[in-house]
Amino acid sequence: MVTGQCLKILLIEDNQADAELLEEFLQDGTGSIWQIGHVVRLGDGIEHLRCSGEFDAILLDLHLPDCNGLDSLVQIKEQAPDIPILVLTGLNDRTLAVEAVRLGAQDYLVKGRFEGELLIRAIRYAIERHCIERQLRQQMAQERLLVEMLEHIRESLDIDNILQTTVTEVRQFLNTDRVLLYRYESLQQRGIVVESLDEAHHPWHPQVYQDLVLLCLLLREPKLIPTVVNIMAPPVAGYMDFLQKCQLRSLLTLPIWQTARYLVPGRRNRVSGSESSSGYEISGFRNPVASGQITLDKGQTDKKLWGILIAHNCDEPRQWQPGEIDFLKHLASQVAIAIQQSELYQQLAAANQRLRALTILDGLTGIANRRRFDEVLQTEWQRLGREKIPISLILCDIDYFKLYNDTYGHLAGDTCLQQVAQAIASCARRPADLVARYGGEEFAAILPDTDARGADIVAERIRQQVAALKLIHDKSLVSPYVTLSMGIATTIPPTPLPCPTTLINAADTALYQAKDTGRDRVCICPYNPHISARSIPEIFS
Ligand code: GH3
Ligand code: MG
Ligand code: MG
Repeated sequence: MVTGQCLKILLIEDNQADAELLEEFLQDGTGSIWQIGHVVRLGDGIEHLRCSGEFDAILLDLHLPDCNGLDSLVQIKEQAPDIPILVLTGLNDRTLAVEAVRLGAQDYLVKGRFEGELLIRAIRYAIERHCIERQLRQQMAQERLLVEMLEHIRESLDIDNILQTTVTEVRQFLNTDRVLLYRYESLQQRGIVVESLDEAHHPWHPQVYQDLVLLCLLLREPKLIPTVVNIMAPPVAGYMDFLQKCQLRSLLTLPIWQTARYLVPGRRNRVSGSESSSGYEISGFRNPVASGQITLDKGQTDKKLWGILIAHNCDEPRQWQPGEIDFLKHLASQVAIAIQQSELYQQLAAANQRLRALTILDGLTGIANRRRFDEVLQTEWQRLGREKIPISLILCDIDYFKLYNDTYGHLAGDTCLQQVAQAIASCARRPADLVARYGGEEFAAILPDTDARGADIVAERIRQQVAALKLIHDKSLVSPYVTLSMGIATTIPPTPLPCPTTLINAADTALYQAKDTGRDRVCICPYNPHISARSIPEIFS
């Protein structure tokens, strides 16, 4: 504690003689100037605290006219939880002393058993102890908050969520007006990504954008960004002018670095602003690195700047504490990892999506493949069986396609398959419908919630659509153009569910019938779960 400092003491003591003695003790003490506010009643003491509040310590007699015993301590503690309290009493009672300390008293002094020097030392120690306790509490709260924030950040792979959580919680932690993340990809691609703003009291001032321009000047060479720029302790000539110009009372900026090893391309569309910094001149400003005023962290050159975390105070100047800066440095490194993880995860998800597309689509025609057909038929079969809703299946086969290939070549055959596939796909229009390449020159349409009549309409539509393509097929024995034969089977999947193969067999049987009766036509098979492919032709009416 600094000597010569002024200490304000609230003395709550009803015994006039005791009060005078205490004041005498204090005034006799060297080293500090004592300002003593003396009250007789507890109520007056509470009122004093409520009105002026700013005391360095409280001396509290436990026996007062309006309150007796430890209850007065409890009431004062409630009113002034942040001011150290020293209890004064005539009772030399060890149990009471322990209880007083347990309730938050810094010391327990027995009247008549101390002199001035001891009283002054007790008060000073009480203030010191209280201050250290408060710092410890703050540090613990910071550590708790840091753990919670990091948990939030780690839990999420969603980059927007990570960034929003970061700025919101940092603002709460610093108890400041505005915290924002400024993304820097290049001079052309930069701007505010996300911000947390105390909007009620500090609406955004347009001039504040200029600080970002200043930062961009620093960013011309990203490797030269210092770890922390704490502008309250002005590191660079020109910063204070700059702050004044922006109407900022204090500013803290902290770069977020990505390790080159993990670098993935950024999401350019996230960056909103892209103002060019060329032409901006901030008078008196000198690059702090170039001018040797800020030294760089070792090893920083392996890293690439992702962006900057910026915290502002607009109302009052603020000296950012080393603990706060350390906390932010730690947080920034964690955020950088989380951003990288999230970006990698997004890339992985996109790659998986592409891979999934490859596994379910037919390479030649681009429509669903046989694997997808099997998957969808199985799920729909079970769903519709549970709901007792009909399902229809159309199997389509190009007529005389071997002859088509032989006549026009395999490549022309492929093109024909592509055109026919698109024509069929365009006829199944409900969201749950699926058209797939079933094999070679065979296609299948799964039509959930569709009865035989509906399926017949779709099949007729397919027939017409393919006819409309007018794909010349000179060698076909049924038409001058490419045609299809189709078989339809419809059922409500029976319970207990046999496997959908029975439905496929039924449609196949119908298709066989269409081929058998002249091609270029549609046949419908009344569904029979025990049917095996092409075995019971007499089931057709
Ligand atoms: P049908 O009228 O009885 O159906 O006679 P079809 O000639 O169409 O039937 P078949 O099963 O005898 O021949 C099918 C032909 O389809 C055999 C093959 O050359 C052709 N094919 C199967 N897959 C492909 C493919 O991916 N590309 C091409 N170009 N042809 C294919
Ligand atoms: Mg065939
Ligand atoms: Mg065929």
